Amino acid sequence: MREELLDLLACPSCRGELKLESASRRDGEVIKGRLTCRSCGATYPVEEGIPRLLAQPCPRAYRALMAYYDAYAPLMDRNYHNPRIAYMREVEDACIRSTRPSGTVLDIGCGTGRQAILLAELGCRVVATDISMGMLLEARRRLHARGLDDRVELVQASADALPFRPEVFDRACSIFGAFNHAPRWLRGLSGSGASGRSTRPSRRGAPYS
Ligand SMILES: [Zn+2]
Repeated sequence: MREELLDLLACPSCRGELKLESASRRDGEVIKGRLTCRSCGATYPVEEGIPRLLAQPCPRAYRALMAYYDAYAPLMDRNYHNPRIAYMREVEDACIRSTRPSGTVLDIGCGTGRQAILLAELGCRVVATDISMGMLLEARRRLHARGLDDRVELVQASADALPFRPEVFDRACSIFGAFNHAPRWLRGLSGSGASGRSTRPSRRGAPYS
């Protein structure tokens, strides 16, 4: 993670400000360290350059979800040869393009990074979240292969406890079912109330999934 990401982040438990401690850096990026909430004192690790911002305690159902998608990440493309899914993905891409995204965009449940790559190629700054580190690492590999590392930040987070400050994003999107796993996703997107929204009111796009 780049340190500028701290301007967007907040504690997933209480929305407090986070401070970075014990950071190890490489080429200007924080590779390892700890984020501590100035309000509630909760701590979150930065590992392999990715802040792991899961609200504590992490529900057992989410631990199972993480294990499932961690194991699935390397198989994602090999398993998707279904023509209906291929068509659906074309429609998803067309939907994203039709909204003419710009500015800073939040991708919720990024998986292996298909939409984050598209958004970055369209010129957006992207913050891509997923509950699975396996998926995030696979997304990073793909972003690196396309030379898009500096346009996308990756954050481990649950869709129903998004760790961001109010009104820091121009758009938010979620594709391919992340909200199916997070029954309280609307609360995650809206924060603790109208003033806690992560997207800017003036440019808020309806989330689509
Ligand atoms: Zn906190």
